Amino acid sequence: MAGACSRAHAEVGQPLAPWTPGGLDIHHIATGRGNATLAILPDGASLLIDAGAMLSELDVTVAPRPSAERRAGEWIARYVQRHVKATGRDGLDSLLVTHLHPDHLGDVRASSPPSTRGPYRLSGVTDVADALRVGRLVDRGYPSYDDPAIGIEQADFFRNYRAFVESWVARGGRAERFVVGSATQLGTGVRNIAANGRVWTGQGEDARALFPPLASLPPGDRPTENMCSAGVRISSGPFSYFTGGDLTNEGADGELPWRDVLTAAARACGPVDVATADHHGLYDGLNPAVVRALRPQAWVVQAWHVSHPSPQQLDHMLNERFYPGRREVYATHLMRENLLVNRRLALKMRSHEGHVVVRVAPGGESFRVIVTDNGDESDRVRAVSDVFRSRSLRS
Ligand SMILES: [Zn+2]
Repeated sequence: MAGACSRAHAEVGQPLAPWTPGGLDIHHIATGRGNATLAILPDGASLLIDAGAMLSELDVTVAPRPSAERRAGEWIARYVQRHVKATGRDGLDSLLVTHLHPDHLGDVRASSPPSTRGPYRLSGVTDVADALRVGRLVDRGYPSYDDPAIGIEQADFFRNYRAFVESWVARGGRAERFVVGSATQLGTGVRNIAANGRVWTGQGEDARALFPPLASLPPGDRPTENMCSAGVRISSGPFSYFTGGDLTNEGADGELPWRDVLTAAARACGPVDVATADHHGLYDGLNPAVVRALRPQAWVVQAWHVSHPSPQQLDHMLNERFYPGRREVYATHLMRENLLVNRRLALKMRSHEGHVVVRVAPGGESFRVIVTDNGDESDRVRAVSDVFRSRSLRS
């Protein structure tokens, strides 16, 4: 027991201690170029959620971390490799692409290096899949990618990703469409909550559809790629965590309620201990209903743009009228300009820079949030939270 406690307790200034069997680690990897979250489950299985790699707009986005010496996807693959080593396994068991946008799967340019394995370029997911063993690739669209969102068909990042998936499957790789309601597709303790406008009912593996028949909709009302994002809940004993890609509450103030997938997903998920501020904490992410439904003890904002997060979203996360009790807010990055806009609320946040690691003790009864250095690959601990007791155990 003493051993387990001391290993779980990270020391500031020291490298993060490795994962231990029975523990659940959730790493929000801070590359400054998009989302990437590595979950190492209690049984040692690993799940990478997204491998974003934005290429442009350095004036309004975070500079690459640790540096521009490598592509974001390369940094992510190296991060995964050094942390899954402790499980005794090689590479990833699953890679989930929440939705088909470049800050979640990788952007490409004519200058992006070609893969040596197939007719596609290296960025984000393709960098990870070329570098590591990946047991299964899961996304919201495989194999047809024709339903229900519109607007990405001609985009270079999508065409590149699709060419990669076709090549990968032809080489024997396993690809699957995300199954809403499943409790087995992505690993033990992972429940698929929502995708493509379908949301888990809470009963068995059943799901219900939010979107009306697409043929009945005017083109301007068609679902966006963001509202088709995949969301999951990851549990270990009494501990639980929710993340939902770029799900939004964009329901036109009640005029088009079926477009507000995030509120339905949050209600299907129920209260959790840790949640991400989906869509990077932008204006259409956390409305009060979502905050009340999830009511986490810790929020993680996966931020890489000057607009992440919005002042209103920070207020929603911190507002004790929506739910009482302890809550801490961590961001993978906060640009200086954002800090100036959000100063009053940003000062209440626990971190503005670094990988955010949620380390859940074996059995799931308690956890800590640990911030580690993203300026190099040392994984040096910058800050450690006090112990949180998992919500369902608190009186
Ligand atoms: Zn995004």
